[in-house]
Amino acid sequence: MSVNRTRLRQLRQIRRPLLETYWRLFNRRFYASCREQRRVRALPLTEIRRLQWQRLKELLQYAYENTDFYQQYFASAKLTPADIQRPEDLLQLPVTDKQTYRTHCRKILARHLREADLIPSNTSGSTGQPFRFYLDGVTEAANTSAAFALNKEAMGIVPWEKINELVLKVEPPNRIDLTGIARRGSLSLKEVLASEHIGICTNDITPANISAIAEIIQRRKLRAIYGYASSVFSLARYLSDRRCAPPMRYVIAIAEGMLKQQRGYISEVFGCPVYQDYGASECMRMGFECRCRSGYHMDLYNYYFEHLDGAKYAKEGSVGEIVVTNLNNYVFPFIRYRIGDLGEPCTGECGCGINLPIMRSLGGRPSEIITTPAGKDITVHAFTVLFEYLDRYVRQFQVVQSARDALVARIIPTGEMSDAVREHIRNEILNCVEKSMTVKVECVDEIATEVTGKRRLIVPLPRE
Ligand SMILES: [Zn+2]
Repeated sequence: MSVNRTRLRQLRQIRRPLLETYWRLFNRRFYASCREQRRVRALPLTEIRRLQWQRLKELLQYAYENTDFYQQYFASAKLTPADIQRPEDLLQLPVTDKQTYRTHCRKILARHLREADLIPSNTSGSTGQPFRFYLDGVTEAANTSAAFALNKEAMGIVPWEKINELVLKVEPPNRIDLTGIARRGSLSLKEVLASEHIGICTNDITPANISAIAEIIQRRKLRAIYGYASSVFSLARYLSDRRCAPPMRYVIAIAEGMLKQQRGYISEVFGCPVYQDYGASECMRMGFECRCRSGYHMDLYNYYFEHLDGAKYAKEGSVGEIVVTNLNNYVFPFIRYRIGDLGEPCTGECGCGINLPIMRSLGGRPSEIITTPAGKDITVHAFTVLFEYLDRYVRQFQVVQSARDALVARIIPTGEMSDAVREHIRNEILNCVEKSMTVKVECVDEIATEVTGKRRLIVPLPRE
């Protein structure tokens, strides 16, 4: 073994106790939460659910006693938190949505708060209408970062390994200005020990910037990527075109669903596994993929999930609308919140040993629906399935409803696309909409992002 290798191994061995000591001394809440959540994840599922129910009851009681909004919320259902004895009792309480939080922002905020406990935030607005809310700077901040560390462990990424990460978001932390020299202050002890995170704004990922980005990846020794699925995909394409894609240790894609072929492509370009993280700005780290990648393990310690079919619970093994209660946010409680996703809870155990149940996400928001002139609703899922089946020809797509009876399918092809294939795709879409609309298939080099930095798979006509 060479001297360098031996030194590297020694460094790895001391990094763990050093980091653990650092957390124990300076990041106590995070450290305690990591230990507690690790213990909980190994419990039998019935035990996890019992603890989850207890945490839910505590939150309901607190919200009822400390916010004007939830006092009225329970009163409107002629209930108090004490009446909620079994999961089915929750069905008597109203479901909330973004509009609820937008309208009643002041009244949802708990009374007697310390300014320091509030973290103002806003959603990235995939629906085009961002809204402002508050995160709990005490309980939530510690629990979600601890959950993320454990989620990464489930992917095989241990926190005491130093793997510098490239973060692709609209407003990433440590954002690098691509036009200037990369900023570098003096390094703190933590930065020497722990992984660094370097941010690039998703809007900066363009062919013109790709050389600068490649240089930053090399210079800052970035060996992992975390960011919006479509941005990671674009970055992979540009780097691959220039033949300068560096090997990575892992990619974690967030915020949007990813086509099977996109995941395969990203994995091939960077030579590493690609994981998905299921969450939203107001409910972070709701689910994660483990090494088995058989769906999302749902985090029952930090959230209470319900799967609804209309006003009732969806049948076991069927698709339902996800309604979530954030068990950590005591400053601005989200209770029975319709997050805008569909999911299918699965039974059975995962091979990784984590007892949190698995959910298959359909990667689509129910709000993303194209309605045909005949009145048939077509969800984004129908198009996802169609284009995954066409993975030999199509790398990325976007279906835009340009008029009541007209669709335009924009496609980034895998290579030259023959007229026959294009016609085949057109026919498949025509069948999907029962021939009630005209369909145009356009091959493009790029699919534009929204102001939010994300790309939508389908763009329906604005609702009247
Ligand atoms: Zn698993």
